[in-house]
Amino acid sequence: MLYCEDCKIVFEDAKRCPACGTKKIFLPEPDDVCLLCEKEQIWGEVLAEVLGDNGIPHFRKNVNGAGMKLGALYEKELFYVNYGDLDRARELADELFSQNGSDTDGEDEDLE
Ligand SMILES: [Zn+2]
Repeated sequence: MLYCEDCKIVFEDAKRCPACGTKKIFLPEPDDVCLLCEKEQIWGEVLAEVLGDNGIPHFRKNVNGAGMKLGALYEKELFYVNYGDLDRARELADELFSQNGSDTDGEDEDLE
C-alpha cells in the first residue's frame, strides 16, 4: 500500500496518487492520518460513537457543499483515522452501514 499525504488516502501500488496525481507518495506509517469515509452528519454521529466505543481515535471534518444550502442535517463529514486503525475502522463502518444503509436507495424489502 502507498499513501498520499495531500489527499490522506491509501491505495494499491501505483506510480502516482489516483486522486491528485502527485508522485510524492510514501509507504504509510501506522500514525499517518487516512481518510476513512464520507458520511452525512446524522450517520457521522453514529459512526463516531462506534469508533469511540472501540477505542479508535478519529477526527471529523465538515464538507461544505458548494453553493448548496440544505441545512445542517444534510451536511457531510469526512472521517479520518490513523493508518494503523484503518482496517479495523473500515470493518466497523462496513458492519454499521450494511445494517443501516437504507437511507439512500430503497433496496431493503419493506416489512409492513
Ligand atoms: Zn493525492
